[in-house]
Amino acid sequence: MGRFLDIDLSTGKVGEYDVTDEMLEEYLGSKGLATRILYDTLSKGVDPLGEENVFIVNTGPLVNSGAPCTSRFNVTTKSPLTGGVLSCNCGGNFGMFLKRAGFDGLILRGKASKPTWIHIENGEVELKDAGDLWGLTTEEAQEKLPKGTGKMVIGPAGENKVLYACIISQERAAGRGGAGAVMGSKNIKAITAKGNHKVPKANPEKFKKDIKKWVEILKEHPSTGEMMPEYGTGVFINRCNAANTLPTHNFKRGSFAEADAISGETLAETRLTGNFGCASCVIKCGRRVEVDGKDIKGPEYETLGLLGPNLENKDLGKILEWNYQADLVGVDTVSLGNVLGFAMELNENGLWDNGLEFGKVDNISGVIDDIAHRRGIGDDLADGVKRLSEKYGGKDYAMEVKGMELPAYEPRGAVGHALGYAIANRGGCHIGGGYMVYFEANGPLTMDPLTTRAKPQLTAMLQTMLDALSDSGSCQFTGFTTVPKQAIELNPHGNVYRVVAKSLELMGPMVELILRFPKMLAFVPPLALMQHPRAINDLTGMKMTFGKFLEIGLRTYLIERLFNAREGFTGADDTLPRRSTHQVQEGGTETTVPLNRMIRIYYRVRGLDADGAPKHDTLRRLGMRA
Ligand code: SF4
Repeated sequence: MGRFLDIDLSTGKVGEYDVTDEMLEEYLGSKGLATRILYDTLSKGVDPLGEENVFIVNTGPLVNSGAPCTSRFNVTTKSPLTGGVLSCNCGGNFGMFLKRAGFDGLILRGKASKPTWIHIENGEVELKDAGDLWGLTTEEAQEKLPKGTGKMVIGPAGENKVLYACIISQERAAGRGGAGAVMGSKNIKAITAKGNHKVPKANPEKFKKDIKKWVEILKEHPSTGEMMPEYGTGVFINRCNAANTLPTHNFKRGSFAEADAISGETLAETRLTGNFGCASCVIKCGRRVEVDGKDIKGPEYETLGLLGPNLENKDLGKILEWNYQADLVGVDTVSLGNVLGFAMELNENGLWDNGLEFGKVDNISGVIDDIAHRRGIGDDLADGVKRLSEKYGGKDYAMEVKGMELPAYEPRGAVGHALGYAIANRGGCHIGGGYMVYFEANGPLTMDPLTTRAKPQLTAMLQTMLDALSDSGSCQFTGFTTVPKQAIELNPHGNVYRVVAKSLELMGPMVELILRFPKMLAFVPPLALMQHPRAINDLTGMKMTFGKFLEIGLRTYLIERLFNAREGFTGADDTLPRRSTHQVQEGGTETTVPLNRMIRIYYRVRGLDADGAPKHDTLRRLGMRA
């Protein structure tokens, strides 16, 4: 749309941020572009919950274009949970409506003097009194806001600055790192948008044709056409359990005897009423379930794993209730499951008498409410695992990286994925870490999960592709089609499968070469299985190649690294909890994560110095300024 709002909440002044063509060429949109703006705007050391922090919401070029699975918006800020960079990519409908209102993004500065909601419509902005919305749940607030608008809202947890408060749009969450708390710290309850602007297209006929093909590919692919619509991400429970990557008892173990009771398959058989998708989605991975006669959103894999086995809980009904409740009050279920599991282990070890016990489910609902309102033990729990460990002890089993709690994959069961946790810029994160577990444990084609061979290179490549997908405005699940259908259909017990899986271990040098010189792919046309560069070409006329697309992903990681380095993060922060590197799983794999070996290679592949900061040469090669 070529317009980016700049709103000073302290003065009420509304202007526009100048996004240059050069910035778009380098970062495309969404996460990469927003992080560039964050880096250029903030100075070192600002308080994430203070007026000086900024809050950026933006989109990628494909959003609202008609391309499939592209309703996404991105939230970027300095995280109150980690003190580092934070970007969250969210579905729902706000991204599309922001574009319709005529803007690619917005930056909020300062702080409103009282509870406020922002309405954006056809190029105009209004700051409105949110006195009657403050204190409402995310569902109540969305119901009260005008119909026919795209919405993003916080719940009581964001208002009370819970450090892992999320933002909700329809039923999707910008979950991690406390973006909801930053919104609350600025007294912003909600942002709504509407309008009738359309995304201009450089080559509309070709775009239409290519999009039609893309939709067919997504519908025909076994991952995006069958697995995700049928079972959602919950399908990973049994797969991760079998591979010792299902966190159990605060990540002490990697498998849970009752896993099937909370699996995606059981959910589908016993509780599912249907599936749903974010606006413009053709995959529709979302779950709908019925609880007490009410049709509500069902849980994702992360929530099932962390509110289930991680708490020694096999009661699927309780997970459905807590998941819904967490969304209503606006807390991230990944951090929540970790915080509860860690508090249970502290109690078990006599370090904190808090009433929380593994397998005990009757007091959890009350505790979730206490966290959202910072009441009783909820006040401590609202600060996350790292701060709890600083107060009560248990550092060795505080399952966080850079202050962010780990997602639902036990690191010792998949060492490449574990590397991803250590080097992800926003902290312990499966998406920011590259989601290597898909090629180690829960995907259709998996290599040896315990070998370190090629893991640093493949992790860097997957991160780069996921970052580029984010920058384009697409849902990352569209990336599942990069694994060819033929590979998925191989017999997992056959020789061909074994050879293909083994050959992944030999790909390290080739992948490293591509990441070092992505320009060598400049003349390779957009790959048949990766539709995004082609769609961006048709839409913007940017002459996007797969090589350029990768460069955008590489820059996105590096600009985040630069932000964190300026904030004082060093190589010492690229680490894992001691439980992952020094203790073996109880009753599972007999190895720990050989992190140091992988990190050294990873830094080389990424062009980082010994302290994990981007080298000047690396920045120069990618045309980046520090
Ligand atoms: S695949 Fe799932 S998360 Fe992605 S856009 Fe579709 S419904 Fe939303």
